[in-house]
Amino acid sequence: MNIIFLGAPGSGKGTQASLLSLNLNLEPISTGDLLRKEVEKKSKIGILAKSQMESGSLVSDDVVVNIIKEKITTKSCEKGFILDGFPRNINQALKLEEMLENCNKKIDKVFNFDAEEDVLIKRIAGRYTCKKCGAVYNRYFKPTLKDGECDNCGSNELENRIDDNEETVKNRLKVYKESSFPLIEHYKKKHLLVSIDALKISTLVFEELKSNINN
Ligand code: AMP
Repeated sequence: MNIIFLGAPGSGKGTQASLLSLNLNLEPISTGDLLRKEVEKKSKIGILAKSQMESGSLVSDDVVVNIIKEKITTKSCEKGFILDGFPRNINQALKLEEMLENCNKKIDKVFNFDAEEDVLIKRIAGRYTCKKCGAVYNRYFKPTLKDGECDNCGSNELENRIDDNEETVKNRLKVYKESSFPLIEHYKKKHLLVSIDALKISTLVFEELKSNINN
């Protein structure tokens, strides 16, 4: 089974992709995570992508399409995958269809994570993670019990993503809004789109996803 998650930054796609991938033995593929790794490595791709990511704009289609092309043909994707953050526009969606056709694969479902903008801004701008164990917190909704200390592993290395500040978040949401409408229409026409209320608590979103996949 191959799945796409569409949704604005902060709509919970990443969390659900991790949960669902474990549950269904699918490979989670987040272009945002893959790009951040390239930036950290200071690779050629990372150097090209860094300034666009920091301002909240999209990285060029060629760069992300190549990253996806490489990833979906690996062995880890044989049983299926969950795409989180790709495609972000129609050109990327068409490129994806072309590469899937070439390896006899197809998209089975597209979930659209629906959520209101003001909640999304708080979800993203308030987000921080533990560098050591990866636990995720939120200044507004789920702060650490002790200030500056991870509840899970006790580390003091808590960090914000560079593009999770309020200014960049607003631009990321604007960019998302502009590009998502045609994508939603594209997958509606193909009868693949399922809308999910992303403001519900995470366990309920997860149940809704699973029941949709099983039907
Ligand atoms: P995300 O973690 O999905 O919110 O992505 C973080 C940033 O990575 C975005 O603001 C873009 O700069 C870049 N990015 C991630 N996925 C894509 C994509 N499919 N196309 C272009 N840029 C992307």
